[in-house]
Amino acid sequence: MDKYDVVVVGAGLAGLSCARWLSERGQRVMLVDRKSSVDQSVHTTGIFVRRTLEDFTLPEHCLGPVVRNVRLYSPRRRMLALSSPHDEFRVGRMGVLYQHLLRAGLAAGVLFAPATSFRDATVTSDGMHLELESQSKRDYVHTKYLIGADGANSRVARALSLSQNREWIVGVEEVYDSRAMDAPPCLHCFLDPELAPGYIAWIAHDGAEMHVGVGGYGNRFDPNESLTRFLKEVPQFVPAQGLPMLERRGGRIPVGGLLPRIVSERGLLVGDAAGAVSPMTAGGLDPCLRQSSLAVDVIVKFLREGDAAALDRYESAPFRKRFRTRSLMRRSLATIQSPWVAEMGFAFLRLAPFTSLARHVFFGRGSFPTSDRELQACPGFRPI
Ligand SMILES: Cc1cc2nc3c(=O)[nH]c(=O)nc-3n(C[C@H](O)[C@H](O)[C@H](O)COP(=O)(O)OP(=O)(O)OC[C@H]3O[C@@H](n4cnc5c(N)ncnc54)[C@H](O)[C@@H]3O)c2cc1C
Repeated sequence: MDKYDVVVVGAGLAGLSCARWLSERGQRVMLVDRKSSVDQSVHTTGIFVRRTLEDFTLPEHCLGPVVRNVRLYSPRRRMLALSSPHDEFRVGRMGVLYQHLLRAGLAAGVLFAPATSFRDATVTSDGMHLELESQSKRDYVHTKYLIGADGANSRVARALSLSQNREWIVGVEEVYDSRAMDAPPCLHCFLDPELAPGYIAWIAHDGAEMHVGVGGYGNRFDPNESLTRFLKEVPQFVPAQGLPMLERRGGRIPVGGLLPRIVSERGLLVGDAAGAVSPMTAGGLDPCLRQSSLAVDVIVKFLREGDAAALDRYESAPFRKRFRTRSLMRRSLATIQSPWVAEMGFAFLRLAPFTSLARHVFFGRGSFPTSDRELQACPGFRPI
């Protein structure tokens, strides 16, 4: 049976990052994904925020042009324009980025098993036996440590008896080649509880790609029907007629906040599997990178020194406290079901103090805390 220091399940942004960084730090790593190629069925718009762009070096060819302008719309399509002097957003070319990260991981020594599903795990005296399935054939590997980077509905979480996501919104979007469209780069967000109950509809246009999507609580709307309706409205906001469609994307976004139990001596969860998504904006890419970086630090220390206390730094409690306000804002957003109430709320947003709040949500630098200074600010933090 093949033996690894760490097996990473899931080759999305979190899994690819963990696998690469662990391998670069001398660990023997296997990365498995049930997809046959990492750029298949991408399920994110891929908007990276300023804080990520400033703190992580993402390769230029994996990013679209800069977006600095946001337009918010009410259910009756009243508009509030926000603009920033900074480079606020860039839409990732996610398939290209995943391939780039995979190549970097392979170069660092990661063994990648595509079209391979994680089935189950059995505890042994020195780690775990993992049951994997590829083309209906079972295979078994041994690992000292297991990472669940397997998305919102994590099988690894179940196998490790860690917490599981319980609250989701559903998003679906179409991506168009918009190089021929004569419109400035802009993120258009529609607050409309009939079109997108509990979240937003969006048009994200960066001058090269246009993403048109809707998101909301799955039990309150039919996402495909809603997107069809929304697509008919799009030409009122951008001259999008006749653009070639590139792909359709969709998926679940966990919005219940960081889960309570995400680490044990056998393994840990990262990214969507850990619920590491901003409950307010539903942005998960920045938390994926920050949490992966922290996961790698604690795992390397744990495996090198056999010190289980190293894993305490990954406990979610201190981080969950930081997410409290955003969780409360999510609850408030979720309760708005009437377009009339949303219209009233939007009228407030156009008043100066509330416009600052909207600016803060879109242009603020708040995210998953990881620097030591930020961690020190979390009650309960214990340095390694
Ligand atoms: C429509 C939509 C739009 C979004 N837009 C944005 C955005 O613009 N900006 C932003 O910040 N966030 C956005 N998000 C959220 C963000 O995309 C996610 O938080 C992030 O991509 C999660 O990455 P991950 O690596 O944790 O999980 P995933 O990307 O879900 O990767 C999980 C991987 O695990 C694999 N897998 C699952 N189960 C198994 C198994 N049993 N065995 C083997 N492999 C398995 C899957 O094939 C997959 O490749 C969006 C989400 C959606 C759904």
